[in-house]
Amino acid sequence: MRTCVKKTECSGCGACAEICHAGAIQMIRDKEGFSYPQIDEKICIDCGQCELVCPIKDKNQKGCDNLYLGVKIKDETSRYTSSSGGMFSVLAQYVLEKKGVVYGAAYNERMEVVHTDVWDMRQLEKIKKSKYVQSNMEGVYCTIEEQLRRKQWVLFCGTPCQARALTLFLNESYSTLIIVDLVCYGAASPGVWNAYIRYLGRRHGNKVTQFCFRDKRNRNNGRTCSYVAGGTEYVSELGHNIYCKMYFGNYILRPVCHSCRFCTVDRFSDFTIGDFWNIENIRPEADDGLGTSMVIVHTEKAKVIWERVKEQTFWFECRKEEILQPRLTNPTCAARARKQFMILYKIIPFSLFVKILNGISVIEKVCRRFFKGRI
Ligand SMILES: Cc1cc2nc3c(=O)[nH]c(=O)nc-3n(C[C@H](O)[C@H](O)[C@H](O)COP(=O)(O)OP(=O)(O)OC[C@H]3O[C@@H](n4cnc5c(N)ncnc54)[C@H](O)[C@@H]3O)c2cc1C
Repeated sequence: MRTCVKKTECSGCGACAEICHAGAIQMIRDKEGFSYPQIDEKICIDCGQCELVCPIKDKNQKGCDNLYLGVKIKDETSRYTSSSGGMFSVLAQYVLEKKGVVYGAAYNERMEVVHTDVWDMRQLEKIKKSKYVQSNMEGVYCTIEEQLRRKQWVLFCGTPCQARALTLFLNESYSTLIIVDLVCYGAASPGVWNAYIRYLGRRHGNKVTQFCFRDKRNRNNGRTCSYVAGGTEYVSELGHNIYCKMYFGNYILRPVCHSCRFCTVDRFSDFTIGDFWNIENIRPEADDGLGTSMVIVHTEKAKVIWERVKEQTFWFECRKEEILQPRLTNPTCAARARKQFMILYKIIPFSLFVKILNGISVIEKVCRRFFKGRI
């Protein structure tokens, strides 16, 4: 077995493993907690299929005649349980009403993040809301292909690399498929996430059963984080949560995310959805602190669907410049100390690791206060 890709050139989408009819590719976790394809050369028949479905090797570019929108679902309950303005729910409802299937990221019983199918509105809640962890796509590509061949309606929502991997895997356009990709800050290490969840379980003496990265109770557009362990709820600002500090501090993103080719408004999906950054300055009257989706409508099919669903939303059209945000122009830069950080994560127990991180935060805080204006 050998790892068949450079770590800076693999998004971990798993499409190569799934397309391999010889069964020569397995996704194996490395010490940073990310999965990479490993190839068994004794089984490999050199057919080259794995390279054709790789969203990173793919060098096609797409120019689109995009429509740029700000969107809020009219159903306030649904918006409250969405990360931003609930555009995903609008599209999910459209497909579920056609007796179709919707794919998104959910927590499983071990709180790992996995792509899951949903068949009715009641189940939809489990795949709503952003989970800032790379999701596992095992089995999803083949199942979607089978469903599309049976003329089933399918909505897929995922990161832009997962969405592109799906289009390459299918290699055919289907009128009953809607692909939605996210504006994406980066995919975080599932290994670090699992270690964090286990650490919380030990700390509270009970398993974590729910985790919300985008809690809206403070009407701050979801910048609150909450989780439940042993029936007790713990709430903090997003920026104070230790896992979110690692994620938004750019320590635990997949290496390839730092050179992501999808940080652009032109995508291969039908819709791109994200948070409407800067809404408070661009449309202050529309900002109620409960979230607005930024939506880019790319394809003719998507424009037809938008015409059918827009009645369920409050929306406004805007200029490209108004929706631009860092992740639509450039990839997230790695933290300068990412390498050292990951070495530490690999060699010391996670509880000690967290103590060190908390210590560094306190030192930073003290320094900032003490050297105010001088650093
Ligand atoms: C890892 C990540 C990074 C993001 N970074 C940015 C950013 O930098 N800027 C920005 O504007 N928006 C970003 N978003 C998107 C944003 O947080 C919202 O998901 C988006 O605005 C859609 O909101 P909604 O209210 O329509 O959907 P919701 O109902 O909240 O649905 C969110 C959708 O994202 C899917 N999803 C959740 N977690 C994952 C995951 N780990 N992998 C794949 N799919 C997932 C869900 O299944 C669902 O389909 C990010 C999302 C994720 C998951």
